[in-house]
Amino acid sequence: ATPTALMAGTGRGAQLGILIKGPEVLESTRRVDTIVLDKTGTVTTGRMTLQEVHAAEGTDDKELLRLAGALEHASEHPVARAIAAGAEQAVGPLPTVEHFENVPGRGVRGRVEGHEVAVGRLFDELPEDVARARREAEEAGRTAVVVGWDGAARGVVAVADAAKDTSAEAVRQLRELGLRPVLLTGDNRAVAESVARTVGIDPADVVAEVLPEEKVEAVRRLQAEGRTVAMVGDGVNDAAALATADLGLAMGTGTDAAIEAGDLTLVRGDLRVAADAIRLSRRTLGTIK
Ligand code: ADP
Ligand code: MG
Repeated sequence: ATPTALMAGTGRGAQLGILIKGPEVLESTRRVDTIVLDKTGTVTTGRMTLQEVHAAEGTDDKELLRLAGALEHASEHPVARAIAAGAEQAVGPLPTVEHFENVPGRGVRGRVEGHEVAVGRLFDELPEDVARARREAEEAGRTAVVVGWDGAARGVVAVADAAKDTSAEAVRQLRELGLRPVLLTGDNRAVAESVARTVGIDPADVVAEVLPEEKVEAVRRLQAEGRTVAMVGDGVNDAAALATADLGLAMGTGTDAAIEAGDLTLVRGDLRVAADAIRLSRRTLGTIK
């Protein structure tokens, strides 16, 4: 395509709500055959709400929620926001945190009221009742995180969000364009499969329970199979995978890290626009083979 055609394509993209980093990006867009979708905030709304609180024997539900909420107040993660908001609503103002530490793709740690508190996927051993509460919440399609302090897991809080209204239609359009959709998430497999079913992704194409650095490996594995991979994501934890993919699409509603790492930004955070981007590039570059 001529530079003029590419410039026109870029301009048309802007009208559709697609910000394109450079005209050459349209070329990689055209070749894509696989599209990896981050779950939280990309396929789902990312607006999670607190659903359940289960303290283990000997621990009070409100105490569990207060310490978990205090810690999560310092985090930006959608899971964290839901827990902090739910805690504040249930127990009132939350205590302050010292030595806060974010462990990407796993959870948070810090000192609250003299306790070393941790929330997330950070405990190796769980008491039987905590393990059961987590399993039951996950089977119900919720994201369950373990809360503990001073070296022991003491309960579970579970949050949930829903697929965006537009996600199932987006997946249908992407398939129609000949792309294979893959769902990629750090979240639990049961939760991931329930979202996949809702939007029409094959359970065999769900890659779950991956750490942020493993998202890159998941993209590389598909590339090693000879696939040309687009990745759509919104989180700090997606940035490296967006940069590794042949084409990185960032949700405009997501974090700055994702937007910087992407080649394209879907301004309104509507996954259907990913299909528009593919169509646009095929049309713009339709003449080169
Ligand atoms: P996704 O890939 O779906 O965007 P993430 O990689 O951000 O998910 O997170 C993966 C998992 O790590 C979450 O489902 C949760 O179990 C845990 N996690 C991450 N951050 C936090 C946090 N701030 N508090 C509790 N758990 C967390
Ligand atoms: Mg996400």
